[in-house]
Amino acid sequence: LRAVWLEDGSVSVRNVREPRPASGFALMRLICGGICNTDLELQRGYYGFRGVPGHEFVGEVVESVNTKLRGRRVVGEINIACGTCAWCRRGLRRHCPARAVLGIVRHPGAFAGLLTLPERNLHLVPPEVPTEQAVFTEPVAAACEILDQVRISRGQQVAVLGDGKLGLLIAQVLALRHARVHLYGRHRRKVRIAEKAGVDGRIVKRLPRSAYEITVDATGSPAGLRQAVSMTMPRGTVVMKSTVHGPVDLDSAPVIVNELTLVGSRCGRFEAALPLLKTKRLALREMISDEFPLDKAPLAFSRAAERGTLKVLLRG
Ligand SMILES: [Zn+2]
Ligand SMILES: [Zn+2]
Repeated sequence: LRAVWLEDGSVSVRNVREPRPASGFALMRLICGGICNTDLELQRGYYGFRGVPGHEFVGEVVESVNTKLRGRRVVGEINIACGTCAWCRRGLRRHCPARAVLGIVRHPGAFAGLLTLPERNLHLVPPEVPTEQAVFTEPVAAACEILDQVRISRGQQVAVLGDGKLGLLIAQVLALRHARVHLYGRHRRKVRIAEKAGVDGRIVKRLPRSAYEITVDATGSPAGLRQAVSMTMPRGTVVMKSTVHGPVDLDSAPVIVNELTLVGSRCGRFEAALPLLKTKRLALREMISDEFPLDKAPLAFSRAAERGTLKVLLRG
């Protein structure tokens, strides 16, 4: 079975053993995968990763006890929970301390001819959603997570910092959910993509201070959190969407003095993302920078790592 392999900073395509689905798991054929910044970080050796990456995918179910799934296009939630611990019993499966994570922690990823996931993680792709859009379900769900964590009222002004892939998706999702979103970015071309979904894009020299009740940091940079804090009004909320490795330099005084709430935010529910994809109002096609067949994964990874590249897709 052909699979992408990450080891010691390099990307290769090699033959691996065909996965056998455990009980409760489905076997899928990869139709399309999306390379995300996490994959590039795994390549650089974060989390000591070695193996098959990939957690953004659309697959076709080839083996499942559930006849409703067989032969269908699916997307899958990436956290594989134990199902029995206290966190799982409380419905917080994404926080199960024993969890494996597709293509990240102890479970081979989606960038392979075949992959497995628990049937309960799978969601049918609505027929009207093309594969090239459905492959965004996981990052769109991560954007939707903000709506599960923070109350944003209709018409409320929200600042999003960062015009990378996640920043563009967050800005669009919040705008479609009736926030007035100001997206602070660096690239006119990228900001314009989100403007198609009703976002107000801003490229400024100096960021406004104490101007927003809710600010989302999606810069992916260590400076982003500090900037987000300074843009937020007293009693406001800063949503932390940048995973930055290592400590970040943040003066806690403005957080305390202004009584800010900092909210960490990670993966989200696919149930929230799929209806948004169905509306076809997210500008996703514009976010695809390139596509490669699975066999060209080394090229695809280097393309994804180039400055200014948005989403790179892998075809199964
Ligand atoms: Zn990702
Ligand atoms: Zn558990």
